[in-house]
Amino acid sequence: MNLVGELHDLLLSSTNTVVFTGAGVSTASGIRDFRGKHGIYNDTFRGYNVEELFGIDLFNSDPSLFYAWAKDFVYDLEAFRPCTVHNLLARLERAGLVKAVVTQNIDRLHTLAGSKRVYELHGSPSLHHCRTCGAEADYDTIAPIVRAGQVPMCSCGGVFKPDIVFYGENLPEQTFGAAIAACQEADLMVVLGSSLTVFPAAALPEEAYRCGARVVIVNDTPTSLDRRAILKLDDLTDTFMQLNDLLTNRL
Ligand SMILES: [Zn+2]
Repeated sequence: MNLVGELHDLLLSSTNTVVFTGAGVSTASGIRDFRGKHGIYNDTFRGYNVEELFGIDLFNSDPSLFYAWAKDFVYDLEAFRPCTVHNLLARLERAGLVKAVVTQNIDRLHTLAGSKRVYELHGSPSLHHCRTCGAEADYDTIAPIVRAGQVPMCSCGGVFKPDIVFYGENLPEQTFGAAIAACQEADLMVVLGSSLTVFPAAALPEEAYRCGARVVIVNDTPTSLDRRAILKLDDLTDTFMQLNDLLTNRL
């Protein structure tokens, strides 16, 4: 049996599969990578690097820099659709073969594909909150303002910030806690498109392993968990195309 066949059998024989997704799943939908060779991390904007632009200190002192920079990549999500990976994960959840998706991505594509139990460790721009009064506004309200080159302001005079976890901010406590609990209960942990380098998020698959889960990695570069994995595959899109065919009659 080939490796995808083995992954297929593992999915069917496990009772509590949790999937952990990273940038590779987003790039499969055409979204630019963060850390790859042509990734967003190589960008600078008006002399600031990405960690500064995504930093809470700069946002607090001058939010116009973040919004001017993010206009063309955080606020253009309508241009991207879920890919085979997102779609198959949603169908696997509906069939009871995936319990939860834990993601490092902020692009909302798992939810858009129909996955219900999604833990967004780094948040998303689905919601924004006013830094002053806490008022809430959704993506569809804020995006046109940002694309028009303006900083989205609350009626109280405060600035709206996306519910994305910025550098210098903690991960959302409730989401992170629930994601840890899901990982601890998993008997199969499938890591997709993550090189497991961004902590603390990347500690979650390891926690699943520590609690007894079998680990499968599908990523085109080595990860720190490779030697613990019972299965390692490289090509995410190819794996999911094959998996999709193998599961056709079951989903
Ligand atoms: Zn306000």
